This record gives sequence, structure tokens and C-alpha cells, in this order.
Amino acid sequence: MKITRILAYRVDLPLHEGSYKWSGGKSVSVFDSTVVAVETDAGVTGYGEVCPLGPFYLPAYATGARTGIAELAPHLIGEDPTQLGKLNRRMDSGLLGHPYVKSAIDMACWDILGKVTGQPVCLLLGGRYGEDFGLYRAISQEAPAAMAARVGEYRSAGYRRFQLKVGGDPDDDIERIRAAAAELQPGDRLIADANTGWLMHDALRVVRAVRDIDVYIEQPCRSYEECLTVRQHCDHPFVLDENVDSLEMLLRGHADRAMDVVNIKISKFGGLTKARQARDMCVSLGLAMTIEDSWGGDIVTAAIAHLAHSTPSEFLFTSTDFNSYVTVSFAAGAPQRKHGRLSASLQPGLGVTPKMDVLGEPLIDVAG
Ligand code: MG
Repeated sequence: MKITRILAYRVDLPLHEGSYKWSGGKSVSVFDSTVVAVETDAGVTGYGEVCPLGPFYLPAYATGARTGIAELAPHLIGEDPTQLGKLNRRMDSGLLGHPYVKSAIDMACWDILGKVTGQPVCLLLGGRYGEDFGLYRAISQEAPAAMAARVGEYRSAGYRRFQLKVGGDPDDDIERIRAAAAELQPGDRLIADANTGWLMHDALRVVRAVRDIDVYIEQPCRSYEECLTVRQHCDHPFVLDENVDSLEMLLRGHADRAMDVVNIKISKFGGLTKARQARDMCVSLGLAMTIEDSWGGDIVTAAIAHLAHSTPSEFLFTSTDFNSYVTVSFAAGAPQRKHGRLSASLQPGLGVTPKMDVLGEPLIDVAG
């Protein structure tokens, strides 16, 4: 089987809540997502998606994704999309770095592999654990009382994991954590995600001030070394996210005992192939994970669901249903949250069918 054509579409995803705010005053109101279609000489087409969290979260941006796909596509025409390891090596030899550019293409090729083998992607990724899996809900940064009020609201939608966006003024953040923690019920978990927003002295003040609270601390500072310093002064469960984007960083973090949970974002690693490699290494090392992506709509949510559902349940700290945050649906068959939980499709491939009327005309169209 050969790739004959690669197309990319832009789809805008406005948020139900108007905007999403996190550390340092950063916010997004409409996500610019890219959907990729990989066509083959067998008449099978696979679909993938990549959606950066704005241009200032990770070194990734929406137009960069499309420019990179246009750059990479000519290297992939004629390649076999079902030989995922070989395809990834081809991508890495055609374009150094830029993992997020490769993510949607890799995802689309997993969709093809699933379709031609008649298997849902989760089975190809290792199996299907349980009926479904639990989700977290990100709580956009607002005043402490407003964020605390979201805990009950989101619990009534079924969520039991609440990820507070902190990383602002440390005194406000202490209040945010205390106010949200006061709303918790037995079985709930609270994560305070600073998204690199604190300097070390701020982070050390916050973790000391909330020492009596059952809260996870996530990515307090910008660099790995700063986070490690905070970790060494903190007795809360500790999560690393932005700093862990490779197997090298996973191994280093494990050797340093730098984290208890790690966030595996598909596009941060460069697609499902490499995110699965990271996931499997975490299982071997005994590390719990949040399985997710930087952001996305229906197709990213489907891919997350396949990777999360194929992760042994005890290692899956939590996952996400990004497609429920946004007002636009562009693919039929995408997973939908039920009682705060999600499951991967049982259909072959990712189990999604794009709505071409929503995607419109392709911005990139490379054929052999
Ligand atoms: Mg995070």
C-alpha cells in the first residue's frame, strides 16, 4: 500500500465557555486546529488532527503545523502508511524535530492501519482495559471563588478529577487551591497546574502554604531543574508535563525521582507511535500517566481515547475529552463523555468520519 496524497484542512474550534485561561495571562478563545487526510492507492483514507494550545504553550503553532505538513508531505508520497516505524523514520529524516507537525500524519496512518486490518486502534496499541476510563476537567484561571464554583458544576457533569489552572499570583493561587479543595468530595482529586508560571520562590511558598491539602502539584516552573528543586521541597504528589517531551526526559525524570505522574501529550511526542513508546516505558517504570494532547477536537479526542483505553487502568491517572469543550464537531463517531468517562470506538481505525462540509476546502494538497 502506498500514500498517494496528503491534504490538510483548517478548522476553528470556539470554546463553549468563551475562553480558556492559564498561567501568565495566556488565553485562547478559538482554537485553530489542523485536520490531515492521508489517501492511499488502496482507496483507504486515514485522518489525523493536531491543535496547538495557541502559539505560546509549547514550541508549536497552528500555521507552523500546516507549513510543516506541506514541507513533509512530498517525502511521504509513495511510502507505506501501515509500516508505522518505517514511516516515522522517514518523517524524521525528511524534517528534523517539529514533533507536532508529524503527529497528525502519524495519527492518520494508524487510522489507515486499523481500517485495513479491521481493528480499532486501541487493540493495535496494546489492548482495551475495562469498559471506559476517567477524565479530568481543566478549570480555566479565574478568581478563586469562581474556580471553586466550577468544581461542583463539573462534578455534576460526571468529572472527578479537577485540574486548576494556577501559575498566577502566588497568593491568589494559594486561595484558588484552598477554595477549590473545600469543594472536594470523597473520591475527587485536585491538581494544581501552574503550567510553568511560578518562579522557584513563588512555588516554594505555595507548596508550603497548601501542605495540609490533598492536592497534586503540576509543572510549577519553566525548567526541569527548577521543577526538580520544588519537588525536593514538596510532599505533594508531583506531575511533570511541559518538560517531558522525549524518552530521554522520561528516563532522566525517573532516575531523578522528579515526578509521580507524567503527562503524555500525543503531539508533544510526535504522534501515536512515539506517545505509545513513552506510555509503554512509563508502564515498565511504574509511572502513572495522564494521556492527552495539547488540545484538539473530535479526531484528537478519538486518538487520545484509543491510547488511554489501551493503557493498563492502574497506570492511567486520568485523560481528557477536549471535544466537549468546543462548539464545533467535525467528525462523526468521535467519543462522547458519559458520566465523566470516555471509551474508545470499537470501529476499525480511529472510528471517526470527518464532516467534509465543516472542513471545507483543503489548504494543503500534495499528490504524487
Ligand atoms: Mg499540564
